Amino acid sequence: MAFNYTLASARDALKKREISAVELVDAHLSAIERLDDRLNSFITRTPDQARQAAKQADEQLAKGEGGALCGIPLGIKDLFATENVRTTAASRILDNFIPPYESTVTANLKQAGAISLGKLNLDEFAMGSTNLTSAFGGVENPWKRKGSDARLVPGGSSGGSAAAVAAGLVLGATGTDTGGSIRQPASFCGITGVKPTYGRCSRFGTIAFASSLDQAGPMAQTVRDCAIMLEAMAGFDPKDSTSVNKDVPHYEAALDRGVKGLKVGIPKEYRIDNLPSEIAALWDNGIVWLKDAGAEIVDVSLPHTKYGLPTYYIAALAEASSNLARYDGVRYGERVSGKSLDELYEATRSAGFGDEVKRRILLGTHVLSSGYYDAYYLRAQKVRTLLRRDFLQAYEKVDVLLTPTAPSGAFAWDEKPTDPVQVYLNDVFTVPASLAGVPAMSVPAGLDSQGVPLGLQLIGRHFDEETLLAAGFVLEQAASFTHRPTLHAGVSA
Ligand code: GLN
Repeated sequence: MAFNYTLASARDALKKREISAVELVDAHLSAIERLDDRLNSFITRTPDQARQAAKQADEQLAKGEGGALCGIPLGIKDLFATENVRTTAASRILDNFIPPYESTVTANLKQAGAISLGKLNLDEFAMGSTNLTSAFGGVENPWKRKGSDARLVPGGSSGGSAAAVAAGLVLGATGTDTGGSIRQPASFCGITGVKPTYGRCSRFGTIAFASSLDQAGPMAQTVRDCAIMLEAMAGFDPKDSTSVNKDVPHYEAALDRGVKGLKVGIPKEYRIDNLPSEIAALWDNGIVWLKDAGAEIVDVSLPHTKYGLPTYYIAALAEASSNLARYDGVRYGERVSGKSLDELYEATRSAGFGDEVKRRILLGTHVLSSGYYDAYYLRAQKVRTLLRRDFLQAYEKVDVLLTPTAPSGAFAWDEKPTDPVQVYLNDVFTVPASLAGVPAMSVPAGLDSQGVPLGLQLIGRHFDEETLLAAGFVLEQAASFTHRPTLHAGVSA
């Protein structure tokens, strides 16, 4: 019975004492035991701490106290530093890293009363779109194609987060999104995910991939659940100079605004040549749903869209190569010794990083090296400005944009292309919003012909998550996506 809850309905049931936090946490912990040896969505489970926290939550709730998320079981992407709990970034190089400090986002969630059940799997250092680059093994998407037992990818990099939410192992999870890592796995797993405006959530204590793009956000079953989580996660933090000192609105209250009179832009450049017809059809449905709810549909152009992917894969990799220089075997994690300091660095980094991370460090170092800096890095920065301007110009005409989230549904583990550039193409619809710093979300909108979920993406104005969530709520209601994956805690509960 515990598995019919959304985060919002569990919150209400806890407050009314229809269910206790101990019951809710225990039910989810046993679901993890039952299903997660197979799904592999957790890298580290923390059942003892969770049970302890649940008891405390019940004491608070009994007194009519407790924050907005009091007693709610969550999962934390293993990119957020958690005090005294191993934090790996899904990399061998941080295999035994136990942070002495807590990330601001997870501290905020704790402060609101949320209970972490453990640390969730991801692509190594959040680099990827499949969760198959994790040093702790891939994650299985709880969804199956009709009549097939093929193991599907959950998307990435927040694949563990998406799979755990979709399978009912947690009521919500943190994700991070640098170029789509919240939105694409949300789409692949049939859940909702929000990448807030860059600067909305503190990056303090979030292991860095590309600092000018990384942004934390919520992943949960519903738009309301994401609104509730985001409100708890967000906020100014003096420990992150890029976090913005703006009040955090009451996001849940924005859900009922509707879309009457709202101008929704349809960017023509997102109608790419090889867009599968069922994704184009779903996009058309989304347009009709918003229109029927009173929105005005406007065709817009984001002319530099085609430069989004190359710009992202230069800017993000340049920053990654610099951020990952700190993993040298001296200060953190694993060390492989050598005869000299240089040898120690080389041996440690060779053994500690996986192939995709090494590829990105090499490429990133290359585009920053003298002679190539101007041709690649500097040019990418200029194009990034143009991409951002595309959005600002579009928002002179419209309030929000509607696009597909990804160019495909979840594919099988063994269908992952061997050419890394083919994998990068997955991010075609998500990277432009990241480069522009604007907020965006994915809402589950339908199933493809093979029975796996597809999401639609909404992209909003800087710091206007409220309009984004209001439009997302309308889409969600119109789509009435009530399907559940094959592997779900409630099925055998
Ligand atoms: N898939 C993209 C990449 O591989 C995005 C990753 C992310 O957002 N962390 O870089």
